Amino acid sequence: MKKSILIVLCITVSFLANAQSNSKLYTYKQFGNKYVISIQNHAEITKAITAFVEEQDIKAGTIVGMGAVNEATLRFFDPATKEFVDKTFSEQMEITNLTGNISQKDGKHYVHMHVTLGRNDYTALAGHFLTAKINGAGEFVIESFDGAVDRYHDEDTGLNLYKF
Ligand code: FE
Repeated sequence: MKKSILIVLCITVSFLANAQSNSKLYTYKQFGNKYVISIQNHAEITKAITAFVEEQDIKAGTIVGMGAVNEATLRFFDPATKEFVDKTFSEQMEITNLTGNISQKDGKHYVHMHVTLGRNDYTALAGHFLTAKINGAGEFVIESFDGAVDRYHDEDTGLNLYKF
C-alpha cells in the first residue's frame, strides 16, 4: 500500500517538474532594476523576451543581448510605400548585438528590437528584429525603468512612435 502511494507521488512530482521546465523559456537573476536572462536553447527570442517583460510587468526599459541562432526573421520598412518586407535566414549565426526597448501601446507591453547577426563567412546581416530561434546560448540584460513610456500609431510615418 505504502509502495503504491510512493509510486503515485513520484509520478506526480516528475510530471510537475517536467511541466515547469517545459513552460520556462528562460531563467534569470535580478540585480536591483536589472535582470540577467538566459533564454533556453531552441526557444524563440521574441516570445521569451515578451513573456519575461509581461511577467515582470516592465512598462519602460532597455534590452541588450548576444548569443547564437539558427533561424532569424528580419523586417525592412520602406518609408516611401510604408510597406514592411520580412525575410527569414535559416543558417547558424552569432548575435553580435541585439538592442531593444520596452514601452506600452494600447495598454499592452511593446518590445522593439534590432539585431546584427554574424554569418559563418564573418559578414553581417542587420535589421529590425522579428523572431529568431536560439541554437546555443542566449544571454540578455534587461534594465527596467521606474515608470511607463507609451506609443501611438503615427499616420505620417506609418510607425508606432513614442508619445510624451
Ligand atoms: Fe525597428
